[in-house]
Amino acid sequence: MNMELSRRSFLKVAGAGVAATSLGAMGFGEAEAAEIAHVRPFKLATTTETRNTCPYCSVACGIIIYSKGDVRKGETAEITHIEGDADHPTNRGTLCPKGAALKDFVKAPTRLTQPKIRRAGSATLEPISWDEALTKIARAMKDDRDANFLLANEKGLPVNRWTTTGFLAASATTNETAWATFKVVKALGIAGFDNQARV
Ligand code: SF4
Repeated sequence: MNMELSRRSFLKVAGAGVAATSLGAMGFGEAEAAEIAHVRPFKLATTTETRNTCPYCSVACGIIIYSKGDVRKGETAEITHIEGDADHPTNRGTLCPKGAALKDFVKAPTRLTQPKIRRAGSATLEPISWDEALTKIARAMKDDRDANFLLANEKGLPVNRWTTTGFLAASATTNETAWATFKVVKALGIAGFDNQARV
């Protein structure tokens, strides 16, 4: 028998096997195949596993994302299941309620998936490309820094602060990304720097 089984399916098959073996001993050899044909296939058997990190908080639990459809073949991949990664040293397969509901977060119709802008005088947000968004952000940062950068405090001591712009980073990043982000932000002189690490 060449099947991948969840524990639930295994118990079903095992139960079916016992019944079928008993039936087989009584001359019902076809019964096992008939029983197995009725067992629901393991739902993750044909999915692609992708390891990732829960984006909610700084615990950064490891997750496995299961998807149907192979993007390498030009297919659209659809996430069908997300669970804790049992091999991850941080959470060893467990997830808090927020992490356990990640699939709903990913598929939420209100999820923001592209940059948006509210133009001057407009009451609505409209989508823009990442290129346009990043260009606008860079322009606004440069202009604000040029206008408000503090070289020295009121006593004349050098401070090199930029206090009129804040930066919100992501806590669920790698150490290397966090280190590089910190260096860029502090090199710019930004004093207000935080992330979403609110467990
Ligand atoms: S929100 Fe929960 S599952 Fe996600 S990283 Fe934090 S503790 Fe882990």
